[in-house]
Amino acid sequence: MIGKSKLRRILILGSFLLILSVVSAYPGRNVCDECGWIGLPDSRICEGCQHTLNQCLDCMYTNEVKADYCAKCGMPMAEMRVLGSIDPDLRRELRLGESARADLEIQRLQHLMQTDPENTEEYLFDLAMRHRKIKFYSRESQLWLSFLKRYPYSEKIGRVKLYASDSLRKWSYLMYEQKMFAVAADLLNESLLLNPGNDEARRWLSYTSSAMGKAGS
Ligand SMILES: [Zn+2]
Ligand SMILES: [Zn+2]
Repeated sequence: MIGKSKLRRILILGSFLLILSVVSAYPGRNVCDECGWIGLPDSRICEGCQHTLNQCLDCMYTNEVKADYCAKCGMPMAEMRVLGSIDPDLRRELRLGESARADLEIQRLQHLMQTDPENTEEYLFDLAMRHRKIKFYSRESQLWLSFLKRYPYSEKIGRVKLYASDSLRKWSYLMYEQKMFAVAADLLNESLLLNPGNDEARRWLSYTSSAMGKAGS
């Protein structure tokens, strides 16, 4: 039997996603949720009831109504506006979802990479680390490879090569499981190029080669 609190959580999440899709399509965000006062695009606080109109719930910065991303920390604001209109207890419950949190962080970094090009190296590194945390190995690998291409003289290059080698190896397991042995072998070869000391990758390359031999391809 499904627990009451679990059911509640699922229902809340369902309505959250529904509200989210409505809010992002709804342009009237200058209207105060509390009293209906109508602000200008650069309003920050409701003049009717002093309620904040577009507050970032991550860093608590009070943004202008027109901001799509927090001007202080870069978090996407559509989600924040929805969270802001939900009861604080429910909000805490929703924020427990690590993957939702990771998704917001990823959107934030992608936004910062475009708006603050001077620090792209750092954002790209963080973005790859985020994908590492959520175990999205194919995307993580691509991000590390793009880092290596863009910043071959970075002081982080040693770490990046180790991480890239590791994520390519883990990505290759997924290909191996799906019996895509040739792809798995390519990924493992790439992994070994980046870190010839990756013994785990070397061992898997030999399994993959023998699997390819048996499959006759
Ligand atoms: Zn108001
Ligand atoms: Zn913020």
